[in-house]
Amino acid sequence: MDSLFNRERSELEEYFLSIGEKKFKAIQVFEWLYEKKVWNIQEFSNIKKEVRDRLEKDFTTTLIKCVKRQVDKDVKKYLFELQDKNYIEAVLMYHDYGISVCVSSEVGCNMACKFCESGRQKKVRNLEANEIVEQILVIEEMENVRISSVVIMGIGEPLDNYDNIRRFIRIINDAKGLKIGARHITLSTCGLVPKIKELAQEQLQINLAISLHAPTDELRNKLMPVNKVYNIDTLMGAIKEYLQLTSRRVTIEYVMLNNVNDSIDCAKTLAHLLKGLNVYVNLIPYNETNAKEFKRSKKETILKFYDTLKKEGLNVIIRREFGSKIDGACGQLRGSERI
Ligand code: SAH
Repeated sequence: MDSLFNRERSELEEYFLSIGEKKFKAIQVFEWLYEKKVWNIQEFSNIKKEVRDRLEKDFTTTLIKCVKRQVDKDVKKYLFELQDKNYIEAVLMYHDYGISVCVSSEVGCNMACKFCESGRQKKVRNLEANEIVEQILVIEEMENVRISSVVIMGIGEPLDNYDNIRRFIRIINDAKGLKIGARHITLSTCGLVPKIKELAQEQLQINLAISLHAPTDELRNKLMPVNKVYNIDTLMGAIKEYLQLTSRRVTIEYVMLNNVNDSIDCAKTLAHLLKGLNVYVNLIPYNETNAKEFKRSKKETILKFYDTLKKEGLNVIIRREFGSKIDGACGQLRGSERI
């Protein structure tokens, strides 16, 4: 049976029309689910019994189950068990400006980036939109907080689960849903070019982040198999198209791997590649994984790389580190963990 958390408001309106009810009931249901946080359909007191019974017959409101919670200073990590006993993780982060959650989009991931732990489990399946929404609901409930921003950077390649991700974004962005502003939603992709182009057409005001990680095909091929399908030139074409269509600044992610992609030459080539584009570069200090061949760049090297990009006129920041003590940092999430 389908989940009530798997419906956009417009789809619920259609549902109510199809069962001979007024479509404004969709608003009432959204208010119960996302504002009042009431998940027992029989408690939807402004909806008559007969309709509640019908809703109960057609939908579930069972949430995914958190089976493990790890706490570090300003970050928490959650292991969720899905209905079919697959496992995924999500991370909560406290910032001065609010609270963000990093959600997973798939069980496993097929992109197989060499430096990323999440790609070690091959993709088992897409997450349904409700399973992503529920990561947020369960965390809000457990911690008694309101989440103000969402990054789709957990396990999985979101653009490899495009339709469900779009649905997820529409649900959490809805003014009667979780009301998370599009500008507070960031989607990170390893560079699935056709889907970047499709996303550009959606008129969503979300932030797009691209995992570039290398300035040449020769190097990127070694780190990210996806580059053999969509090389840097093709990817840059898609980024330019995206910039033109959306006028939204794009983030370029660059993980700093010791002696792999952190030379001054790399910085200069990267600067050349990005010059004049409305992007900013996010340098990510590498977090240790089981891929022992990679080490984090030295602090001075990261700073030099940063300075070089700055001198070349690029906007650049070094990503604040979160959660490496509990394996909750970028690239450390996995779904195979058992309690
Ligand atoms: N599939 C999406 C989301 C991945 S996670 C994507 O590829 O963009 C978010 C970011 O963390 C990506 O840029 C990813 O390449 C990076 N990352 C992966 N492993 C990492 C590690 N061990 N240390 C630091 N960053 C890592």
